[in-house]
Amino acid sequence: MALWKSTGNGTLEGISHVADLDASKLTVTLSETLKPIPPPDTWQFGNIMTDHMVVAEFDPETGWSDPEIKPRAPLSLDPASSCVQYGTTVFEGMKAYVGPDGKPRLFRPDMNMARLARSAERMALPPFNTDQVLALIKQLIIVDRRWIPLLSEHSMYIRPTLMGTRMGLSVAASDHATLCIFLSPTGPYFRSGGKSISVLAVFDTVRAWPGGTGGHKVALNYSPGFLPLRTAQKQGYDQILWLLGDDMKVTEAGAMNIFIVVRRDDGDVDLFTPPLDGTILPGVTRDSVLALAEAHTAGEINLPGLQKTSRIHASERTFTMDDLSRWSSDGKLLEAFGAGTAVIITSIGKIGFKGEDIILPEHEGGLGPIANAFRTRILDIQEGKEVWKNWGVVVDGKTALTKTEV
Ligand SMILES: *Cc1c(COP(=O)(O)O)cnc(C)c1O
Repeated sequence: MALWKSTGNGTLEGISHVADLDASKLTVTLSETLKPIPPPDTWQFGNIMTDHMVVAEFDPETGWSDPEIKPRAPLSLDPASSCVQYGTTVFEGMKAYVGPDGKPRLFRPDMNMARLARSAERMALPPFNTDQVLALIKQLIIVDRRWIPLLSEHSMYIRPTLMGTRMGLSVAASDHATLCIFLSPTGPYFRSGGKSISVLAVFDTVRAWPGGTGGHKVALNYSPGFLPLRTAQKQGYDQILWLLGDDMKVTEAGAMNIFIVVRRDDGDVDLFTPPLDGTILPGVTRDSVLALAEAHTAGEINLPGLQKTSRIHASERTFTMDDLSRWSSDGKLLEAFGAGTAVIITSIGKIGFKGEDIILPEHEGGLGPIANAFRTRILDIQEGKEVWKNWGVVVDGKTALTKTEV
């Protein structure tokens, strides 16, 4: 693969044959002491880390280093590194579940890999072979698999991270990078079972804008939302509903894609989510919900708990706060939910806007029937209880390990 060549001033210019990322060159150094695994019911999302991590580095003269799996430890970074000074960090969020056969499974990892490559390109970070990143993820899961509990709804959250590590303050792309992949075991996002969340619609701060980076998983999309989130939480809301434009288009809920279910005059329901116009993160869960809705309505599958005859008309379309208020007062707004890897699906029970609340119909267990149908089916595919297309990818035992056998 032709990679880039440094011009010495931080700009990267095409074509030099430097080494691509190569998982077959992986070396594994196991930790001498393994951490005790805290009881799963004490885990908080993203707070517990496993024993090992993957690290590989890109140098513009030589390309990608041989990747390593080694004991998890802090990285050493120059304070003038690009990622520290200019936020050139991109990441992914995915999960591995253990299936009924005892084997770990990934969910549509090709989509995460394609998105990671697009995010890296958007931040002008060095390119890499995404198949090799996936191979490294699988190796790391095998090494740290004792951390995936054999409990339903428990999984291993995977955080592939690519950081620009060029040292220097010139405002330009990073021609050095570090790829780091680490794992965090997780339990169900909400321990009390399905609980609906409340969101506060904000219009004085935006998450993303046309031509910006909202359609990419880049670190700099998240921190600007922390202050408005704190303000929303002080007012008693769980998350922010991000709006955009004078017409107050609804875009996303926190770091989740948003869906709404609206009753139609013919008795069917519409399922709406905003279109991928560059301000919306193209979520894997979002794509899965749309695909499952279509398959259900086409009669190819029967979503759990729903009548075969209940038709869900899924479409990617813009809707505004005015639309939500009108559908709610007409009694047509049946459900609203967020979709993302961490929560899978979570119901939205209340939407605060300009001092008033739109209240959605309450459902036992929190999730409405449509949200629950998607959540159940997606989780069943993730846990290998159901097979749908090639969405579940089994991580098979001892493949391609070199040096140290695991
Ligand atoms: C990651 C993310 C999502 C959800 O994407 P999934 O691939 O389903 O996990 C939605 N919105 C934002 C802003 C995100 O960062």
